[in-house]
Amino acid sequence: MSLIDHAIAANRKNAQHHDPSLANKPAPKIAILTCMDPRVNQLLEWLDIKPADADVIRNVGTAATEDVVRSLMFSIHVLGVREIMIVGHTGCGMEIFSEEAFENHIHTLTGVYAVSPDKFHCYSDVNLVTQKQVLKLRSHPWIPSDIVIRGFVFDLSTGELREVTPKDANNLVAV
Ligand SMILES: [Zn+2]
Repeated sequence: MSLIDHAIAANRKNAQHHDPSLANKPAPKIAILTCMDPRVNQLLEWLDIKPADADVIRNVGTAATEDVVRSLMFSIHVLGVREIMIVGHTGCGMEIFSEEAFENHIHTLTGVYAVSPDKFHCYSDVNLVTQKQVLKLRSHPWIPSDIVIRGFVFDLSTGELREVTPKDANNLVAV
């Protein structure tokens, strides 16, 4: 059985015990940007954050892309999120390739070049790249300066979260 068929069968069973209050308006307090890697699927649980409290935005490599900003506009300006946590992790697949090597990899597999994606956001240093994502969001004109933005690296070997927020990244609050 495919996993999708498995999911459909499970849904039929689980929907019978569904809590209808889930349809109420969401009220997240925090937005978490992290990797799509399945090894961090339990991140909320590990951080003791209730699912209802977090908008979780994921993509490969924890990149603060245009589309992440698009999601954050709803988190911040519609739903009331006041904190953003960026959580990269050790051993990410994005460390395996350079931009050029990954484009070549796909070209070898497909035989064509394509106009998009323009960038894959490959990197070699998870600490530096996570700091960069903090600063990218920090400098965005549509993210108010009183929104806290902090960066972390989750170590898959130890289970520990290491803060890498650049100095002064949250000192921009107007007084
Ligand atoms: Zn990853």
